[in-house]
Amino acid sequence: MNTAYIALGANLDEPLTQLQKALISLENVGDITARSSFYQSASILSGQPDYINAVALLHTALAPHDLLRALQQIENQQGRIRQEHWGARIIDLDIILFNNDTINSPTLTIPHAHMLERHFVLLPLLEINAQLQLPDGQEIATFVSQLNLDAIEKMP
Ligand code: ATP
Ligand code: CA
Ligand code: CA
Repeated sequence: MNTAYIALGANLDEPLTQLQKALISLENVGDITARSSFYQSASILSGQPDYINAVALLHTALAPHDLLRALQQIENQQGRIRQEHWGARIIDLDIILFNNDTINSPTLTIPHAHMLERHFVLLPLLEINAQLQLPDGQEIATFVSQLNLDAIEKMP
């Protein structure tokens, strides 16, 4: 069994509902043993609606690229249309960590390339596991102090 941390994000069409739908679909991909709170933050790109984000801990038999395909299937099922990179989206599902693997393929980078600079990834991730480390052994918590946390809120 593999251990994967999945980041969920959405900022269109009732984002909270979209995240909840995706979590239900993820139960068909493996077992979710932990889920963070939902977090609301302003989009990094101006002019977009606020994002809702969360992280789920998924135990799955799928190999990394098969997991990526399964996540993309869920995105497609929910009607995600791929427009410009980093455009507003109905649902985005990213693999943040996969076991202690480091992967650099044309379609998959693990750990996720931007995880350390994103408050909307690190806060929910550490809420699930404050002791979490990168594959090279660095403590992820040490990176939070470099982020501006004014613009993100844990939802009640
Ligand atoms: P970002 O990657 O900066 O979070 P994004 O999520 O908006 O941006 P997408 O358009 O959803 O980007 O995905 C672009 C491509 O990223 C996907 O087709 C996929 O092959 C690739 N990708 C690379 N690494 C990962 C990963 N760890 N999780 C999900 N997709 C990944
Ligand atoms: Ca993303
Ligand atoms: Ca993505």
